[in-house]
Amino acid sequence: MALKLILESRNYSVGAMGIAKKWVVVKHFEGEPKPSDLKIVEEELPPIKDGEYLTQAEYISVDPYQRRYITKFPVGITMIGSQVARIIESKNPDYPVGKRVVGWLGWRTHTILDGKEFSGAALVNQIPYILPELGGLPPSLALGVAGMPGNTAYFGLLEACNPKAGETLVVTGAAGAVGSHAGQIGKIKGMRVIGIAGSDEKCRWLTEELGFDHAINYKTGNVGEELRKAAPEGVDCFFDNVGGQISSTIIYQMKLMGRVSVVGSISSYNDDERDIATLPKATIIQPGLVTGQLTVRGVRVVYWLDRWMEGISQNLQWIKEGKLKYRETVTDGFESTFKAFTGMLKGENVGKAIVRV
Ligand code: NDP
Repeated sequence: MALKLILESRNYSVGAMGIAKKWVVVKHFEGEPKPSDLKIVEEELPPIKDGEYLTQAEYISVDPYQRRYITKFPVGITMIGSQVARIIESKNPDYPVGKRVVGWLGWRTHTILDGKEFSGAALVNQIPYILPELGGLPPSLALGVAGMPGNTAYFGLLEACNPKAGETLVVTGAAGAVGSHAGQIGKIKGMRVIGIAGSDEKCRWLTEELGFDHAINYKTGNVGEELRKAAPEGVDCFFDNVGGQISSTIIYQMKLMGRVSVVGSISSYNDDERDIATLPKATIIQPGLVTGQLTVRGVRVVYWLDRWMEGISQNLQWIKEGKLKYRETVTDGFESTFKAFTGMLKGENVGKAIVRV
């Protein structure tokens, strides 16, 4: 009771009786994640010490990499992920109460931080940073266009694909957070952009609102045939989020000296990468790579951590200029985080999938 009174007098809430909540992995995912693989655990937080500050999550990001990478950690870990959180108590002058931070804090409501790297979600060695000035845009964008997915699009296209005006770009996973953004950067750079996505509604959004030149619904159409019609001369740049047979099909329609940026392979994320024999099979791509003398680069956005704010400020600038649009699919409630996560993996999101805590 004493703890509750202290918390109330400080005007913040760590849940009933000072209890924070976190999603803990109780069983490694096998195939599609199941509700029984995770559980919400309550945790009593100690008082903060000098140099520390306490945050309360406002938005939690659900991302495909969480499906893929969580199995690299032992059972018992808090589910990995980034969030935007408000500082609600502080004994660190660099992190004053009321400011927001962005960091890989995991799926948890409250976190005690100390201005150094947070080891609770050891996927990325990045110190949680004060939310950049977003010019009146919603703070949640720090998990999307003005954060990791936006930087993946920015660096993954510009650095790995070397795009040029007049060239043809194909983007898979095109209506998601990274893909919708990468395709728009392609348009900003004067490219002809073709998106591949999983519904007619998503395809319409790409062409009617985002300015993509063409979109193919891979669930109802024949990607190879439709792409041959949409890009009869072939494809110069391929920004791949999806992998598998769709990617193999596109590789064989690349132009000489084409460039491929392999950003993700979500078509395989429900399969066990530790046992490569069980991964999905697709047409081998080596003949296409050799014939086209293609350059293929695997991309991890953390390679550009030292240029993180450059990507954010350029993406914000494009939004201000009306050249870059975004959409969020928002799920409400910390308890709904798992539902938002599995919905995103199944393609229920348009743009960035996030949870408003
Ligand atoms: P999205 O917002 O694109 O959400 C995932 C989407 O993947 C779904 O909406 C669904 O859309 C699509 N999808 C799901 N299963 C399949 C499938 N079998 N075949 C084709 N499409 C499928 O997520 P993000 O934008 O956050 O991430 C996109 C990709 O980028 C992922 O592969 C992710 O791992 C990767 N990524 C890589 C980073 C890096 O540093 N390398 C950093 C960030 C993301 P649909 O309806 O079209 O099927």
